[in-house]
Amino acid sequence: MNQASGSEVRGESRLLIDGKLVEASGGQSFANIDPATEKSLGDTADGTAADMGTAIAAARRAFDETSWATDHAFRRRCLEQLHAALEQHKEELRAVVVAEAGCPIALTYAIQVDLPIADVPYYSELAVTYPYDQPMPEREVFGQRTRRMILREATGVVGAITPWNFPLFLNMAKLSPALAAGNTVVLKPAPDTPWSATVLGRLIAEETDIPAGVVNVVASSDHLTGEVLTTDPRVDMVTFTGSTATGRRIMAKGAETVKKVFLELGGKSANIVLDDVEDLGAACAGGGFAVCVHAGQGCAITTRLLLPRSRYDEGVELAAAAMAGMSYGDPWNPANLMGPVVSEKQRQRVLGYIDKGKAEARLVRGGDIPAELPTGYFVEPTLFADVSPKATIAQEEIFGPVLAVIPYEDEDDAVRIANDSIYGLSGAVTSPNEERALAVARRIRSGTLSINGGVYLAPDVPFGGYRQSGLGREHGREGFEEYLESKTVAIPVAGAGAPKLTG
Ligand code: NAD
Repeated sequence: MNQASGSEVRGESRLLIDGKLVEASGGQSFANIDPATEKSLGDTADGTAADMGTAIAAARRAFDETSWATDHAFRRRCLEQLHAALEQHKEELRAVVVAEAGCPIALTYAIQVDLPIADVPYYSELAVTYPYDQPMPEREVFGQRTRRMILREATGVVGAITPWNFPLFLNMAKLSPALAAGNTVVLKPAPDTPWSATVLGRLIAEETDIPAGVVNVVASSDHLTGEVLTTDPRVDMVTFTGSTATGRRIMAKGAETVKKVFLELGGKSANIVLDDVEDLGAACAGGGFAVCVHAGQGCAITTRLLLPRSRYDEGVELAAAAMAGMSYGDPWNPANLMGPVVSEKQRQRVLGYIDKGKAEARLVRGGDIPAELPTGYFVEPTLFADVSPKATIAQEEIFGPVLAVIPYEDEDDAVRIANDSIYGLSGAVTSPNEERALAVARRIRSGTLSINGGVYLAPDVPFGGYRQSGLGREHGREGFEEYLESKTVAIPVAGAGAPKLTG
């Protein structure tokens, strides 16, 4: 089916540990399955807990014994080299992402491949322009005149654990700021998309001066290999993107060593169409369309469409028509914005939710495996109407091309339904009255909001979740600062006298 067959995709089977591209210590490997063909693209070394331990030791040594954390100019140069290598190998990376994630090639020209590469200079510049030393005004403390400063320093060894849906984007969303800020990293990618990380490992080893141990890439078929990062006392911080369930576990496991945890988790975002929208077409088509992009495998996709009851039937029809017109299938076909879901396991999970939806709401379209695509893990674009805000399909993250349409009575009701979720990652509001839309956006408890189709994703603004959608922010200066510690230093002003401690 593929226009470029699996054999044309050049991946990387080896791990990167302590500056060397190596096989796994146990000698095992695992297959990288193309979700569009169900065939193996090739093997990847199956990293073990022992490999993880070696990688952590290398990252620890590189942090403690080299000048990586303090030589800002060197880090900028290394990141510039990495940027050049990524540019040079962009087509190779594009092919890897399409093949192993089943991502439509059209999306790789934006968020999946081109964007994370284009964003590297934002971080390489920040490595040198960030004000690490911040002087504070002199102050009298316990009778002593004191000169004070705040020093911002790299956190240390960072364990980065990433999912399969936007593999290169998310690997770079962790690597770029963590390295720019002076940390050393052990990257553990999802077993479904190992090459988006191991190819990075090869480029770092072969085409940059990044010192041995500063970046390690340990792929593994076993999720628990990554868990070593959450318990090992030599790791200072875990930066994680993935499901809320795994995020909870990572927090619990990290508690033993009081690990700094940074979490980007799931979402169930609401798309509110306000009742003053005259032409429902664009808003509802956009809503139906959005949930199909990359087969719904995006944490910030708006999977709940909230329509005013007065316009409800019309809106449902428009969203269903948009989904019916969605062109999907072969991810190598540039006309397709929807490919397969990543694995049979994931497809069964999505179909399980669709079965629940059939019992608790009205199935308007889709709901099955498409008959015309018997090979590949495809699911039909699926729309449920008359969904109760409390229904399972309105509350739980499905991570497939499934839209739940919910009617609301008035603006307060819409806000209440939107906020009736354990998640708070994103959302959308549509209204010709921007001030009204902004007022509604202010009431939504989530980390990002799109008004009238505005695109918020960019390297210089934060992205992240309220409530159980996460802890901390990725991107922007705030995202960079997640990878820094603060140290306050106080020095008596000469001749200002000894401290007088009272009390
Ligand atoms: P997942 O939580 O199953 O796995 C994510 C990563 O965690 C993988 O690398 C996996 O191997 C690893 N992992 C699993 N169990 C672990 C454990 N006990 N200890 C350490 N590591 C472990 O998530 P997924 O299914 O790969 O990805 C989909 C999820 O990611 C969705 O919930 C989605 O919303 C979320 N996501 C969030 C964002 C965001 O920025 N908020 C972005 C993309 C995806």
